[in-house]
Amino acid sequence: MDHFLYRDGVLFAEDVPVSEIAAAVGTPFYCYSTATLERHFRLFDEALAPLPHLVCFAMKSNSNQAILKTLAAKGAGMDVVSGGEYARAVAVGVPGERIVFSGVGKTVSEMRAALAGGIRQFNVESEPEMEVLNAVAVSMGLRAPVAIRINPDVDARTHAKIATGKSENKFGIPISRARAVYAQAAALPGLEVVGIDVHIGSQLTELEPFELAYRKVADLTEALRADGHEIRRLDLGGGLGIPYTRSNEAPPLPSDYGDLIKRTVGHLGCEVEIEPGRLISGNAGIMVSAVIYVKRGEGRDFLILDGAMNDLVRPSMYDAHHDIVPVVEPEPGVEPAHFDIVGPVCETGDTFARQRAMPPLAPGDLVAFRSAGAYGAVMSSEYNTRPLIPEVLVKGDHFAVIRPRPTFDEIIARDNIPEWLL
Ligand SMILES: *Cc1c(COP(=O)(O)O)cnc(C)c1O
Repeated sequence: MDHFLYRDGVLFAEDVPVSEIAAAVGTPFYCYSTATLERHFRLFDEALAPLPHLVCFAMKSNSNQAILKTLAAKGAGMDVVSGGEYARAVAVGVPGERIVFSGVGKTVSEMRAALAGGIRQFNVESEPEMEVLNAVAVSMGLRAPVAIRINPDVDARTHAKIATGKSENKFGIPISRARAVYAQAAALPGLEVVGIDVHIGSQLTELEPFELAYRKVADLTEALRADGHEIRRLDLGGGLGIPYTRSNEAPPLPSDYGDLIKRTVGHLGCEVEIEPGRLISGNAGIMVSAVIYVKRGEGRDFLILDGAMNDLVRPSMYDAHHDIVPVVEPEPGVEPAHFDIVGPVCETGDTFARQRAMPPLAPGDLVAFRSAGAYGAVMSSEYNTRPLIPEVLVKGDHFAVIRPRPTFDEIIARDNIPEWLL
């Protein structure tokens, strides 16, 4: 459920016609809905109640500070995966005790910054990382709160590039070694072991892999407690999938996911954290683009848009499907035609969809890519010296540009010419 709906035949973002935003900021652009973001956060928050819990938004899915601030105001914590994300979370006023730091390659300077600024916990992914974090904390006279990310060896049954919970993936410590690693951690003076962390992948469309993983976490909690560790917090990761098409079967609801969490780990008396990204931001955003040309090919027609793979890379990177809808709804009874929908970048990979049924469109017409709020703007680049596209946030009947489109001059000015070329 989102707030991008047709009214009288034109697409609205909440109470603002999408065409009005296009006229103000130009195309292409990202557009987010405050009401959708807030609703998705609330669904998770309510799904975990009455367990003591914190919903940490995986800000790698969308790290615009206006988005972070919208969610933080509702009580969200943040899951960060880099020093830059940590700095963004702090910049919008998220207190350190609501920030968890994930990722396989944290550097000394990232650890130092988070320890100095305050951190809820580091999700530690390897023994070498554990030792470096211990040394950094000791050098600062601190103890770093840690959960150890275990790899439960569960098949998330999702796209290979976003599965993280199988033993062949780079993430976490094999569950078979967990007790030994916790014993090592407990012996390090700079670490305070607070819990267990797990994250098995992204865009999961079934609950069963979560169930398998969380049962293993519950067993491990009991084993570790028997070993004398105080396990008081469980970070259960993110990964719940969203519907990318209107037609396919609906992924599980946050409420069902919450029930599963209560069923598998609810009896342990732990505080529970989850780290949803996509389910909060994905369907809260669209990317709006204009048709440049309609090109008739041999046996294949192309819609050439002003948006491209550098703006939204998911189709070329993950073979991802996005519904692409006209901003002006076709009249009933209009026959669709089939198009390959492509961008202007000089790569065959710059293809959003093949043989997609679309109503007749002409140059200048607007289309919206649905479900583009997660892993969209954050993965964009300036390939082909195409400026990063603006981001717009809608709330009710008003909207604001939350990241402007840079000018060519601004882009060019970022390069430095060395003195020997002057
Ligand atoms: C990517 C990631 C998430 C968020 O995944 P979603 O599928 O967007 O919910 C959460 N935790 C960790 C550790 C991640 O790497």
